[in-house]
Amino acid sequence: MRSDSEAYRVLVIGGGNGGLSVAGRLRRSGVTEIAVVEPRTQHVFAPLQSHVAGGVARASEAVRPQADVTPRGVEWINDEVVGVDPHALTVSLRSGRTVSYDHLIVTAGLETRYDAVPGLGDAMDTPTGLSSYTYALAAKASPALRDLRGGTVVFVQQPEPASAAGVAQKPMYLACDWWRSQGVLDDIRVVFVCPEPSAFHIPAISDELQRKLDEYGIETHFDSDLIEVRPGRKEVVIGRGPVTQTIGYDLLHAAPPQSPPDWIAASGLSDPADPHGFVDNDPETFRSRRYDTVWALGDAATVRTLRSGGAIRKQAKILAGNLVDALGGATPSGRYDGYSVCPITVSRNTVVFAEFDGTGRLAPTVPGWKTLYRERRLSYFFDRRVLPWVYWHLILQGRA
Ligand SMILES: Cc1cc2nc3c(=O)[nH]c(=O)nc-3n(C[C@H](O)[C@H](O)[C@H](O)COP(=O)(O)OP(=O)(O)OC[C@H]3O[C@@H](n4cnc5c(N)ncnc54)[C@H](O)[C@@H]3O)c2cc1C
Repeated sequence: MRSDSEAYRVLVIGGGNGGLSVAGRLRRSGVTEIAVVEPRTQHVFAPLQSHVAGGVARASEAVRPQADVTPRGVEWINDEVVGVDPHALTVSLRSGRTVSYDHLIVTAGLETRYDAVPGLGDAMDTPTGLSSYTYALAAKASPALRDLRGGTVVFVQQPEPASAAGVAQKPMYLACDWWRSQGVLDDIRVVFVCPEPSAFHIPAISDELQRKLDEYGIETHFDSDLIEVRPGRKEVVIGRGPVTQTIGYDLLHAAPPQSPPDWIAASGLSDPADPHGFVDNDPETFRSRRYDTVWALGDAATVRTLRSGGAIRKQAKILAGNLVDALGGATPSGRYDGYSVCPITVSRNTVVFAEFDGTGRLAPTVPGWKTLYRERRLSYFFDRRVLPWVYWHLILQGRA
């Protein structure tokens, strides 16, 4: 360690999926003096929150102490970044400390903005407001969806930017399958509000999901947004432009609007023309287009694909390789093709495993298995049973 204990060779902002995987990979490549700044003391595996909300996983399965998942040889700074000075190569922390770096990796994810839709934040404070996008609200969703025997449930997917937008559909299909098994599906009006023109942006996958929407008798509102929630009257206003309608609900399960943390743009790390304020990095090499010593990956980075944990697995490998090149004085050579994945649980034992590249072409992990995306039990087993183990034991340690 250097004489100045507040200086690091690589400083990572955010100890979530992207931050720990890239820190683990760098450490395993022999890089030393790596620290991760992370304010939370519990690490959440977000994909399991969909299973928690949908009633097929316990909430406790989705969390582990941050100290236990931080890769060996990487220092965890339990603090919060409030600003970056990319000229001075320093980061300011909530505690008042200043930490300096040679290279900075920003992987602070997206923040949930329930208050960006009038009434949505207040609705989430009531027993009927649910969301798989927040740990506590996913835990609340589980018994609420399980015990419902009639009425109207509105499920909402948010427009981009969003973390793996399509996964907002997972609890809906899981709940429908459960209600069907209990013989009450016909007594429940299930409403799906989707900002896109179809259930997924790739036709083959959209067709697969539409088959399930039809099978469960789900009422779909495509090209439609959540405009307002009136929690007192248990009503949502949905639509787009001049065409709106009001629907009464018994339960509301809504993904929230999301955006990168404000300090990214305030620190000059974004392109001022970017209305959302993502880090202005090259989407193929992950190096900042403004500062050679800044890098970004994951949900807060500029990418030309769907933001997802599956995408981060590829991004972390490429970024770590490129940063090792840069530390050795070489030109970074790794390029990301935009691979991403969105596994959508469509029943309590099947998944539509959507894998694609940055151009929207199907990109199955098993080469040649062109129909891997179709509804399968095998994909459910992988998504529900194998992937969580791989995440805790391999991905977060930079081993996969
Ligand atoms: C409900 C849900 C289901 C999902 N399902 C899937 C799925 O099935 N498959 C899939 O591939 N992907 C899925 N995703 C997407 C996947 O979880 C994300 O793409 C991934 O977690 C993003 O990783 P990240 O490191 O960019 O951000 P995160 O994992 O969100 O980590 C960001 C970290 O930064 C920290 N942070 C924030 N601000 C600061 C600050 N100022 N200072 C220091 N640290 C800070 C946060 O506390 C957090 O720990 C899902 C996401 C959600 C929300």
